[in-house]
Amino acid sequence: MNNYILPTYNRIKLKFLYGEGSWLYTKHDRYLDFSSGIAVNCLGHSNKKLKKALELQANKLWHTSNLYIISEQEKLAEQLCKLSFANKVFFCNSGAEATDGVIKIMRKYHYANGNKKKNKIIVFNNAFHGRTLTGILAGSNLSHREGFLPNIKSTGGFTRVEFDNIKALDKAIDSNTAGIFLEPIQGEGGINVADINYLKEVRKICNKHNILLALDEVQCGIGRTGKFFAYQWSNIKPDLLTSAKGLGGGFPIGAVLMTNEVAKKMTFGSHGSTFGGNQLACSVALSVIGEITKKNFLKKVIENGNFLRKKLESFKNLYPMVFSSVKGKGLLSGIELKIPTKDFCELARKKKLLLVPAANNVVRLLPPLNVKKNEIKIATSIIEKCLKEIS
Ligand SMILES: *Cc1c(COP(=O)(O)O)cnc(C)c1O
Repeated sequence: MNNYILPTYNRIKLKFLYGEGSWLYTKHDRYLDFSSGIAVNCLGHSNKKLKKALELQANKLWHTSNLYIISEQEKLAEQLCKLSFANKVFFCNSGAEATDGVIKIMRKYHYANGNKKKNKIIVFNNAFHGRTLTGILAGSNLSHREGFLPNIKSTGGFTRVEFDNIKALDKAIDSNTAGIFLEPIQGEGGINVADINYLKEVRKICNKHNILLALDEVQCGIGRTGKFFAYQWSNIKPDLLTSAKGLGGGFPIGAVLMTNEVAKKMTFGSHGSTFGGNQLACSVALSVIGEITKKNFLKKVIENGNFLRKKLESFKNLYPMVFSSVKGKGLLSGIELKIPTKDFCELARKKKLLLVPAANNVVRLLPPLNVKKNEIKIATSIIEKCLKEIS
């Protein structure tokens, strides 16, 4: 490691040289990757279809800016709308940038409707929405804010309530509330799944008060839970939704999806991004969507997710001293432990399995969505070996 990188990451001393499917290779070893670049490489490493899409576009045109028509962007927006509640899409480059976009759009909606004081956004305990200035205000982790805000206690127009608690949410709404920004499944916060009934009640509350429901699906969207978007497990529809991570399968891209009703307040010049939705990013994302929407792809995600969690569930009784519970949906899973998650991830890594820690003592398992059943068996047997060793 050299001295020129700002040390904001305490990096693991591993350097991967290439990858294939669910596997990452160093000079001497191979690792089973159940981190997928934090839910990004949703089709594994070096996916043939994605490489082809990138290569074709790279030989044609990379970037023109949003000053011009980008047909790849138009196609991608159409696909995302056809696969969801949405009528319009704004493209950016990351999850945090999508957070900024969605908050801006929610506030602008009420502002343009003449409700200039309706600008308060309700967010949740254990929330994570990225590391921009807006992201750290919307997120619940105070350490992410330290030193970066004029006043660490400033709420920046956000009101925080308990996750998955409808009474707490109802109580927090007042005449200045613009909307609610919610992860249907909290990722960094520890794989906390919002109840389907809770989502229904949240929608009802939004309708009653004429406020907007925005969902953060940066981690749980793009097939991760076995539906294209996680909210589709319920029969509610949000007004806005953020996407990123898996959307580009490893190529940086983010998006804000919204209804026409919300979109019509966003006029020329009201928001922008130089790179957002360029030809390269959109071509790769189109290829990702092409794969995920293939027949039986999501069915397999559900099957493999159930297979994985069933195996993990059996560890609860076998290793009760270290293992608390299994969480998640589809291939967005977590194991809640009674020992430090960092230590557990390190132990698994020594046995050549890559996992990701989350908050509240949860370790995340984020394999590529096209992981093979045999690879799940290898991963769970390594996890069991780790549990045995520390029990
Ligand atoms: C990762 C994540 C973000 C931030 O995405 P970046 O691309 O890192 O900016 C926002 N929201 C959720 C739910 C995430 O998991």
